[in-house]
Amino acid sequence: PKYEAYDCTNHITSLASEYPDKPIACWSYGIDIAGFTEAIEKDGTTMVFPSLENAATTFAKLIQYRENKNRLSIRHTASAKVIDSFAIGSVISQAQPGPDGYLFTDALEILQTCGLAVTPWRLAANEEELVEVAANLTYPLCLKVVSSTIVHKSDSGGIKLGIDDQQGLIEAYRGLHSDIAQYDPLAKIDGVMVQEMASKGKEVMIGGKRDPVFGPCLILGTGGIYTEIFHDYVFRLAPVNETEAEEMIAELRLAPLLTGVRGEASCHIPSIVDALVKVSHLLAQCEEIIELDVNPLIVDGQGAVVVDARIFLENVQ
Ligand code: ADP
Ligand code: MG
Repeated sequence: PKYEAYDCTNHITSLASEYPDKPIACWSYGIDIAGFTEAIEKDGTTMVFPSLENAATTFAKLIQYRENKNRLSIRHTASAKVIDSFAIGSVISQAQPGPDGYLFTDALEILQTCGLAVTPWRLAANEEELVEVAANLTYPLCLKVVSSTIVHKSDSGGIKLGIDDQQGLIEAYRGLHSDIAQYDPLAKIDGVMVQEMASKGKEVMIGGKRDPVFGPCLILGTGGIYTEIFHDYVFRLAPVNETEAEEMIAELRLAPLLTGVRGEASCHIPSIVDALVKVSHLLAQCEEIIELDVNPLIVDGQGAVVVDARIFLENVQ
């Protein structure tokens, strides 16, 4: 207003009325000349900021606000469309946690009921049953100890991988028992899980925790035996939609390994996305799940499959 020829007030207000849906931020160059701010802000469509940084930060906050609003709206969509809560509820109500409170085989069943692919498995209590159940599975197989006293099966010799035939199966079964006895003479072995081997792939971890303040949280991390070494984790509030699940994968340090480096084929990302979305809805919907750990989910070029999982339920003994 001081120099009439430089007055852009009319220009800005007419732009604002031409584009009513666009937020417009102005910076008054130098000191704010009396009257400029007032004239621009008069019709309530435009704001004048004392610095460019403030103006830009405001735009950034507006974008963040819109993204958060979108996220909130998906949180209110019914999880029933994503997972079959009735079927899951009935598996949970019959679940039998071990003395440590964790579900193992029931956890695999819950995840399968959510629609995740789980490698086929059977339980065997002795050598005779072992051969019987293996006849219904396809080699190569693996053996895993089922025990309420053993948490990490691989540390205790409680896992035998890559078994090619029946003779190998029996040898592995005996080896497993003697290795565990050596590792911990007091270990209690309830039986073994006979499981089909997943095809070679990358291992990721999907976890869940019910935080007393934030509620159900979803975790994605580098999987398998390296989880605790790499500290490569990404968190979100559950449930998440496909876009958020894709963001989580991209934020992992492991991400380039999943999408393929130096001519390596990419892992099937949509299967990881699908697993994340379903697990997040499970966490959001089943309030009795306090802790969940899918580790690993093995992902190859065609899909993703769960080979190990644990779930901790509240108030179930
Ligand atoms: P734990 O976590 O109790 O040690 P897991 O069942 O997770 O036991 O097995 C440990 C590792 O063995 C996995 O990270 C994976 O590399 C391998 N493994 C386990 N089960 C299978 C399977 N069915 N197919 C291929 N690899 C497997
Ligand atoms: Mg594991």
